[in-house]
Amino acid sequence: MSNKVKIAGEGENWLRVELVDMPLSVGNALRRIIINEVPTMAVEEVLVIENTSVLANEVLAHRISLIPFVTDIDNYVLPEKCDCGSALGCDKCSVRFSLRRTSKEEVETVYAADLLRESGSEKVAPISGDFQIVKLAPGQSVELELYVRLGKGKKHAKWQSGIATLYEEDGRRMIYVESFGFLPPRRMVLEATKIFEEMVAELKENIAKVVTGGEDKTG
Ligand SMILES: [Zn+2]
Repeated sequence: MSNKVKIAGEGENWLRVELVDMPLSVGNALRRIIINEVPTMAVEEVLVIENTSVLANEVLAHRISLIPFVTDIDNYVLPEKCDCGSALGCDKCSVRFSLRRTSKEEVETVYAADLLRESGSEKVAPISGDFQIVKLAPGQSVELELYVRLGKGKKHAKWQSGIATLYEEDGRRMIYVESFGFLPPRRMVLEATKIFEEMVAELKENIAKVVTGGEDKTG
C-alpha cells in the first residue's frame, strides 16, 4: 500500500489536504485525533483573590477558561506527563497569568487583553484580546491568578484544537481542517500524525505482549 497526501488548499486558519489512496479508516482516525487528542492551551485553574463583580466566582472562572490561548506545544508538556504532579503545575507544564482591575468612576469592561503573563513562554497569549470577561461597576474589582496548561479536546471542549471533516470531492478524498486559533492548521495535522504513531506503537507493544504469551490468556 502506498498513499500520498497533497495540500489541496490553504488559508490562514484552514487547510485542505487530499488523501490519495488512503483507507477511509485511516483518514477517519486522523480526523478524530485532530478533534480529540491534539493538545492546546487554556486556563485550567483560577485562583480568585478578590471578586466584587456581579459574577459569581465559578461563572467568572468558567468564562476565562473558554478563552483559547496561542499554544507553545514545543516547550510545554501535558500535566499528566509532567513529573511535578502539582495541581497548579511547574514551569514545564503551566504558564501563569494574573488579572487585576478596579473600576474607579465609570463602568469598565475587562477583556482578555487585560491578562498579564507572570511567567513562562512569551508565545503563550490569548488568541485575541477582545474576549469580554466581566463588566465592573465603579468600586468593583477583580484580582485573579490563572494557570494556563495543555489539555485535550476529549477532556473538555475548551481544549479542542479545531474542526476536521472528511469528504469526497469528484472521487478525491479530502480532509478539511480548521483551527480555532491555538495552533496553525499544518501543525495540527503534524501533531495528529505524531499522536497516531504513538498510539499505534503502544498498540503494537500491547498486542505483542498478549500474542507472545506472558499475559493472562483468560482475561
Ligand atoms: Zn509540571
